[in-house]
Amino acid sequence: MSRRPGFPVQLELPSARPELAKKAGALAPAAAGQRRSVPDGVGLDSQAVRSRMVEKLAAQGITDPRVLAAIGAVERHRFVDSALMNQAYEDTSLPIGLGQTISKPNVVARMIELLLGGRNDAAGRLGRVLEIGTGCGYQAAVLSVIATEVYSIERLRALHDKARENLRAFRLANVHLLFGDGMAGYAKGAPYAGIIAAAGGDAVPQPWIDQLAVGGRIVAPTVMADGRQALVVMEKTAREMKQTVLEAVHFVPLKSGIA
Ligand code: SAH
Repeated sequence: MSRRPGFPVQLELPSARPELAKKAGALAPAAAGQRRSVPDGVGLDSQAVRSRMVEKLAAQGITDPRVLAAIGAVERHRFVDSALMNQAYEDTSLPIGLGQTISKPNVVARMIELLLGGRNDAAGRLGRVLEIGTGCGYQAAVLSVIATEVYSIERLRALHDKARENLRAFRLANVHLLFGDGMAGYAKGAPYAGIIAAAGGDAVPQPWIDQLAVGGRIVAPTVMADGRQALVVMEKTAREMKQTVLEAVHFVPLKSGIA
């Protein structure tokens, strides 16, 4: 890979973007004891374990410092069941119950990098973002470092409740968890600077396009004519929607209705 940045990536971040570093340092639960405890000796609370994951992501071609800082900041092990905690910093998807999965860190990083598309406001942040498929809440927490407001919608009540529980101790004032069918988007938060889907449908639903701001981006796994899923990026200009089809991906299906 030709785009590898030099190391140590992690150490360059705080001085490069003090406003993010300040926020990034805060993405652990606000007070110990509010959340189930992490087994002793596992070392998952240490920053080093996340820094290693960030170095791997950078070696795989993730370059946006905001994405690397955000992933380095969020304690992923707090979003998976205790039995899976020791796999939390491996580049793998993991089951979160009800047949759903928390996406691989590499996929989360790649999709958020595409969502940003190099854009930001004066403070280096993306504006309001809508996430379809809250799942365990991990990606919503990562997005909270990058975007001014995060609206995240989940159609399975049990996972919506789990995400609320997982995120409670982090006290992220800019994350809004919603229970409902994300196919309809969430008009009250619109227009969005970005819409990111964690589940793949046959097409990008029209409400997402309608609720996107001009200049905004949608990143969504979508089933192609050959039946395989690919990552689709849509950009809204004043006149049209530009669509780019990228690499193959494997997401759980986007389903309508609630359960
Ligand atoms: N971002 C999540 C990944 C969850 S997997 C995380 O970090 O854990 C995708 C999620 O999308 C599943 O929880 C699934 O229930 C949800 N989903 C599928 N179709 C949906 C829809 N129409 N509206 C809202 N959520 C949906």
